[in-house]
Amino acid sequence: MKVQAIRFEQTGDASVLRYGDTDIPDQPGPGEVRLRHVAVGVNFIDTYHRSGLYAVPLPSGIGQEAAGVVEALGEGVTEFKVGDRVAYAGGPIGSYSSHRNIAAARLVPVPDAVPDEVAAGTLLRGMTAQYLLKRTFKVEPGMTVLIHAAAGGVGQIATQWARTLGARVIGTVGSAAKARLVAPFCDHVIDYTQGSFAEQVRALTDGKGVPVVYDGVGKATFEGSLDSLAPRGMLVSFGNASGAVPPFSPGILSQKGSLFLTRPTLGHYTATREELLATAADYFSVVANGAVKAEVHQRYALADAAKAHRDLEGRQTTGSIVLLP
Ligand code: NDP
Repeated sequence: MKVQAIRFEQTGDASVLRYGDTDIPDQPGPGEVRLRHVAVGVNFIDTYHRSGLYAVPLPSGIGQEAAGVVEALGEGVTEFKVGDRVAYAGGPIGSYSSHRNIAAARLVPVPDAVPDEVAAGTLLRGMTAQYLLKRTFKVEPGMTVLIHAAAGGVGQIATQWARTLGARVIGTVGSAAKARLVAPFCDHVIDYTQGSFAEQVRALTDGKGVPVVYDGVGKATFEGSLDSLAPRGMLVSFGNASGAVPPFSPGILSQKGSLFLTRPTLGHYTATREELLATAADYFSVVANGAVKAEVHQRYALADAAKAHRDLEGRQTTGSIVLLP
């Protein structure tokens, strides 16, 4: 059947994204379902696939997150039925589309209390916050934690969730307007475009530094993040919004206080069906009970995906972003 999708034939800036018709098999294959996408999530990782920072075979679809309704079942699918509301995040790319055949094992049910746009725009970021705060470095009550890009998609969810876990949260942002936006979610907000954030973190922690930094900014914040840590603290480097961290000598970790560094990715924390369902359910539960306000602040037509990428890469967005097919 003909569906509408965004594809790209060569890597580059947002102008390589093309909207048009493409064909998918009429019937989903064994173990698959056909989904009608209601809303599609836009994540920073999509820009890495498009730019070539993370290599994908070309030509390619794009996108790893969406929410939708099950329209048809392939052979052997028993966990879902036609009409179910479901979402997915991570896995094979191709979510920037009106419909898709996808393995049922990648899907999670969406609770009634969670709107489609929130599921589509925040599941990937919410599951990321879940594993970062609860499994990569476990946030405990009374800890002070540093979370970069606090006004961004992951940032807004992670700051709120860390506070519900009892942490004192220092968030960084790139403008005064973003500082105002996240003030309710953080105990302290630092504009890292104005001077050294590491010095400010030291000042806020009586010179000690923090036990953990969650850093999705990458290149621009790497050094300062190490300088913000207490001895034996952990840098959780989970993204490259400003570019990939360049190679460095591990000796730097000893000089700066026997530090730990990890570079985690969602796929390894949702590798089994049980982990995927539990991670999604934990995230949806904090959205449903109001502990985390997951905000979709930007909506674009599917055909305007290039504009969504430009805005995300240009630091023009806050919270999460969806495309509407
Ligand atoms: P965001 O909404 O957080 O957008 C990125 C933000 O990074 C910007 O809004 C901007 O905020 C900040 N930033 C700082 N420097 C730059 C720069 N030079 N160019 C662009 N942005 C910059 O994006 P997401 O929520 O989608 O993702 C956040 C990070 O988390 C990304 O690095 C992403 O790759 C990573 N991620 C990693 C996962 C994993 O499992 N490892 C899973 C999901 C996301 P400001 O203006 O305030 O500085």
